[in-house]
Amino acid sequence: MGPSVLPALQRVGASGWYILGQECEQFEKAFAQYCKTQFAIGTGNGLDALEIALRVEGLQKGDAVITPPLSAFATTLAIIRAGGKPVFVDVDEDGLLDLQAVEKLLQARSQIRFLLPVHLYGKCVSIEALKRLSDQYGLSVIEDAAQAVGASSKGTPVGGASRIWATSFYPTKNLGGIGDGGALLTDSEELAEKARSLRDYGQKGKYEHHLLGMNSRLDEIQAAILSVHLESLEAMNLRRREIAQSYAQQIQSQHLISLFQGTQLSHLSESSHHLYPVLLKDPAKRASFLSYLDQNGIQGQIHYPFLIPEAAALKDTAFEIEGDLKNARRFVESEVSLPIHPYLTESEVHHVVNVINCWGGE
Ligand SMILES: *Cc1c(COP(=O)(O)O)cnc(C)c1O
Repeated sequence: MGPSVLPALQRVGASGWYILGQECEQFEKAFAQYCKTQFAIGTGNGLDALEIALRVEGLQKGDAVITPPLSAFATTLAIIRAGGKPVFVDVDEDGLLDLQAVEKLLQARSQIRFLLPVHLYGKCVSIEALKRLSDQYGLSVIEDAAQAVGASSKGTPVGGASRIWATSFYPTKNLGGIGDGGALLTDSEELAEKARSLRDYGQKGKYEHHLLGMNSRLDEIQAAILSVHLESLEAMNLRRREIAQSYAQQIQSQHLISLFQGTQLSHLSESSHHLYPVLLKDPAKRASFLSYLDQNGIQGQIHYPFLIPEAAALKDTAFEIEGDLKNARRFVESEVSLPIHPYLTESEVHHVVNVINCWGGE
């Protein structure tokens, strides 16, 4: 924990005010400004923020929500908790929701009204394309930007296709607290008010309960810490981009597919690079690749090792699957995330590059 965080902790401790106070308000203002939106509403976590966003958008029990099968489980859980029915559509070659497949589905099923895309790994789903789908098919788009704070798509910041969208401040996220936290973002005063109410028992003023809300508030300690971390977010994201650039340019392995190879540097500069995914050409070699990395002091991870619709928790839940989810399955079987933490030193980055380039694929 950096020294600048301690005064924030002391300030909150001395104030004696721990929930929904000045720290939360100040952070919400600063974060809204960072996101180029009018309002930010802090919540207890990203899962709740997504659920609240769906409810604010008027999701009714049984409503279909298009979403990818490759994401954090929370994305789907939010839909189910809000009463919706997930409709899983495959991802594209980059691991992002395949918008062509989405459009095909919308042409066949004009009654579908909700779309929950995920800016996975920090890479933005095309905001332009999302907006067009939203306009043309009358959709409510709720972007899951838990991994993409600070990312943009052709210059438009994340969130640009949504009336209300959500993010997470889980400690490992690009902007993380020292515990759970999340936020909703919107330009609409009306939606902001409804979200504020839903996170706080559904009350408007004190004891005025007009909605069946939940308890999901961003506490003062987290807000104070997040205000400090927000100041260095741009520098941290910049550092992530530098590392991504080094990986994209220097990793040359016949055994791996880099998702960023051949993409222009401008594309690299728009992702928030929450994770740096590569794919094994031969999925059967993933375990040995991971242990090879481990032997060399490098922690590789898998995002994600299962398809959401195949999770045991969904066995008694209504959902639909469109197509064979071939691309998502490819990620499940062959993806490895390389370290891209902003505190990695140059020599650590070179070490990762060298170790990978020396791998013989055995
Ligand atoms: C982390 C994450 C969430 C959930 O956020 P929590 O704060 O852990 O509830 C949702 N979606 C995605 C894509 C995430 O990475």
